[in-house]
Amino acid sequence: MLTALIDDIHAYLPDEDCSLVTKAYNVSVAAHAGQRRASGEEYITHCMAVARILAAMRFDTPTIKAALLHDVLEDTSVTHEDLQREFGPEVTALVDGVTKISGYHFENHEVAQAENWRKMLLAVTKDVRVIIIKLADRLHNMRTIAYLPAAKQAEVAEESLYLYAPFAQRLGIYRWKSELEDLSFAVLHPDEFRAVQAAWEQREESRGQHLQAWQEQIGAAVLPYAIPCKISARPKSLYGIYKKMERQHKQLSEIQDLIGLRLVTDTVANCYALLGVVHDQWTPIAGSFTDYISVPKANMYQSLHTTVIGQNGVVAEIQIRTEEMHRRCEYGIAAHWRYKEGGVCRTTVRSTLREVDNRLDWLRQLLEWQNDNKDPRELLAALKTECTFDQIFVFTPKGKVITLPAGATAVDFAYAVHSDIGDHCFGAMVNGKLQPLQHQLVSGDICTIITRKNARPTKHWLEHALTAHARSRIRKYFREHGEH
Ligand code: MN
Repeated sequence: MLTALIDDIHAYLPDEDCSLVTKAYNVSVAAHAGQRRASGEEYITHCMAVARILAAMRFDTPTIKAALLHDVLEDTSVTHEDLQREFGPEVTALVDGVTKISGYHFENHEVAQAENWRKMLLAVTKDVRVIIIKLADRLHNMRTIAYLPAAKQAEVAEESLYLYAPFAQRLGIYRWKSELEDLSFAVLHPDEFRAVQAAWEQREESRGQHLQAWQEQIGAAVLPYAIPCKISARPKSLYGIYKKMERQHKQLSEIQDLIGLRLVTDTVANCYALLGVVHDQWTPIAGSFTDYISVPKANMYQSLHTTVIGQNGVVAEIQIRTEEMHRRCEYGIAAHWRYKEGGVCRTTVRSTLREVDNRLDWLRQLLEWQNDNKDPRELLAALKTECTFDQIFVFTPKGKVITLPAGATAVDFAYAVHSDIGDHCFGAMVNGKLQPLQHQLVSGDICTIITRKNARPTKHWLEHALTAHARSRIRKYFREHGEH
């Protein structure tokens, strides 16, 4: 069993590291001896599977060691001191970060869940690898969820769908996000899952034909320009299709087979050149073009998106990106830990860590804003909002970019600029037009907040505000001014 993992990591780690991993494995085997999973398998198989999920992403040695040991503090007699002594502070902090709070009785399951998340998120702000290990752990638990009792399955799937999958998305690890979603979808809505799966397979043939036709046509259109370009089909998630049905209130048969294509080229200039070729040849659907290259998503996702109509009205969703962007889209934040050929020099490691660290500012802010909140469940609600919604970019009159979740209003914008401006906002000037505070903003809007000295938050503002930040400031205002 160990050989498989050693083979995985041997592909990218030096020999010494393989023996360090072996040591962690031996300690974990001894600690979990006699324990079995719900499937009847020995417990160590789970630790091994988690380590291999991470090795497949080429994570560093401390992460792999911590993955093998991730359950020893929670489930065995191994102590904090033992880990410190045998593996040092880095691995110990990682294992501690994924360990639930023990020896404390919470009033109910929800509060316990929220407090455990808060503990883990605090550890994540210090070292993002904590959530990476937790995600790999959850992924394996979801893959083997069939062995749990039905009620427990639903509970775990729900948390995976509404918290872990969005978190994976926020970190840009799309492959984990879609697997978590599809596995949870199968547990939470088994009938719908089977229906979507069956229909998807049934249409396989016609979809394949459309796909091939598109690939050939695009290949032919690009050829005269000699732009390097790899054309591939994009995998679709079943949960994504189901969500689309719900959003558009449509039956499965009414959902058009969208062809998802991806064009990968060498440079940014060639991405725009390819876009030009595509738009020259086919009509884009109005409003479908989005430039995530010049304005990347908060999780560092970059691509050009466009949707065009081809012959016979077959619609294709096309993403255009460079090789480098593609790697980032596949691995997200994890791309930073992947061992590069020939090793990584120290300065690269340092600047990489700093960059990753900046990417977690939203989480620090979220925890800070939720600090004075008495109800721990508010934290989970805020986390869901923060992770689930797409980001929009709105400009101040001076050209400063304010990032907000899609659906945010002028109230959210006002609080994002400054809490004083939030507390006294009265209206908004959006692209030169006067708008009420509940006006929903979209990317590219230029927004000026109009304040009045005697303006102050009202109860309605809570209905208009989407962001955790605005909502907690409004509540704070009520508390401080004796309203409830
Ligand atoms: Mn585990």
